[in-house]
Amino acid sequence: MFAREVATYPMQTLQSYVLGGWQAGDGEPTLLSNPTTGETVAQCGTSGVDMAAVVRHGREVGGPALRALSFTERGRKLKELSAAIHEHRDELLDLAAQNGGNTRGDGKFDIDGATGTLAAYAHTAKSLGDRPYLVDGDGMQLGRTARFWGQHVWVPRQGVAVHINAFNFPAWGMMEKAACALLAGVPVIEKPGAATALVAWRIAQIIVESGILPEGSFQFLAGGVGDLLDHLGPQDAVAFTGSAYTGRIIRGNANLVHHNVRVNVEADSINAAVLAPDVDMSSETYGLFLRNVALDVTQKAGQKCTAVRRVFVPAEMVDDVIRDLSAEIDRAPMGDPADTKHRVGPVAHARQLKDVREGMAKLMEVCDVVHGGPEPVGDTGCFVKPTVLRAKDADADILHELEVFGPSTTILAYTGEADEAVRLVNRGGGGLVCSLYGEDPDWIETFVLGVAPWHGRVWIATERSAEQSLPPGMVLPGMIHGGPGRAGGGEELGGERGLEFYMQRTALQGFKGLLESRFGAPEPATAE
Ligand code: NAP
Repeated sequence: MFAREVATYPMQTLQSYVLGGWQAGDGEPTLLSNPTTGETVAQCGTSGVDMAAVVRHGREVGGPALRALSFTERGRKLKELSAAIHEHRDELLDLAAQNGGNTRGDGKFDIDGATGTLAAYAHTAKSLGDRPYLVDGDGMQLGRTARFWGQHVWVPRQGVAVHINAFNFPAWGMMEKAACALLAGVPVIEKPGAATALVAWRIAQIIVESGILPEGSFQFLAGGVGDLLDHLGPQDAVAFTGSAYTGRIIRGNANLVHHNVRVNVEADSINAAVLAPDVDMSSETYGLFLRNVALDVTQKAGQKCTAVRRVFVPAEMVDDVIRDLSAEIDRAPMGDPADTKHRVGPVAHARQLKDVREGMAKLMEVCDVVHGGPEPVGDTGCFVKPTVLRAKDADADILHELEVFGPSTTILAYTGEADEAVRLVNRGGGGLVCSLYGEDPDWIETFVLGVAPWHGRVWIATERSAEQSLPPGMVLPGMIHGGPGRAGGGEELGGERGLEFYMQRTALQGFKGLLESRFGAPEPATAE
């Protein structure tokens, strides 16, 4: 291992890209810091930006230009965007260390996630045909004979997509949403979390300078949304990722409610991992359980919406799990993310540090610290020790209600019964992902059917797949991401499904010959 040279960049004023040009805010700026050193690295703000004009520009300039392109052409643009961003990978990784406290591994997770998702949607586009709509399912006979026919189609909506993102994935969060909207033919207005906006802003610069997208189809806000939401109408959409608290404010916006503007909320989730009682502690399944839970505590300093916050372990296995998990976590040294030997960086900013330490203190009212703890680390920087807590009572309310968005997880003992695991897991009130490690198909079936209604994703490790599985914290473009209830009630990605949020499904009813010739299944993809 050797320290990598991380380039540092001068203090930047992040501008918004709106109405075809870059514009700085004219009010009190928001300051962005380096969470390792505490120094200010950038400032941003959107006051003075005419949000009504931004919406009009997207609708009137970007929308028609995008819709004039076929899915195949839009897909090609996503592929070009992926390549253009990837060319700047090292620079973006440095910025992610500087402004987000990301280790190189953390930065890759975000930035390669962004380019990988763009590339995946470029691939999806190849099967969508060259027409401006998508066919939904088979047609059906409606009349006495097949002459009167019905066919569902998806057409792009004629509004803008406003994307409001959380601070923890400035690259992936922006591009996974943009990939779906742009491929659907809908112009985007991207607003990253302000605290770590440096990476998103640099990506916005790369996108604009590349000239790949038609003007008006990509606008970027370096700061707050101001009164943007008050200018949206029935054809527009808002996709939000962030805390449940902010999600509720956005969902409740009077203008959005009045115009039935589509709103998708990806919020926080008290994700659970469950160790079934039949897992042999010398097995690959058990090893994977330890590695995945440790990864969720350490990767991005625990600031992943999919990170496991509650680990359910049969009571008789708890002591062994605490010993083994602690050892696994210790394999990831913490320190300056610029040094490649460090695998755990600081949390992203000072408010995060305060929230995480306060959250840990609240959990400690019903838990014992068995590894790490909330005490300050060093004199500077937003570092928090990777921490494992042990619940005194698995039913304490706060364990199922409070998300500590940092390097912390809690072990909860349960009886080993599938029904008991289901009851406790579902106390989270709706989650993004629930991971299960077990072997017995009957136990697994009972558990999966019990938790599936409360989760967007159920991830299962058995001996047969353990070696090949991807970690449960990884969101894949081909599978849906989101969850009911507490997790926001939203859904993103899932391959072609991710486009539906930006499109209108319309039932066409008429003469079969007309519907099939004009609105039937698309021609096979153009070979490239
Ligand atoms: P946050 O404070 O809720 O902020 C999220 C975004 O909303 C930011 O861009 C923020 O802007 C913006 N915002 C804040 N108040 C707003 C308002 N009144 N109107 C419109 N926009 C507003 O969340 P965060 O601290 O950035 O992110 C951490 C949370 O996100 C965690 O709880 C985590 O679980 C969740 N998360 C969920 C997912 C998922 O996919 N489900 C993914 C990642 C993170 P400013 O930054 O300018 O304040």
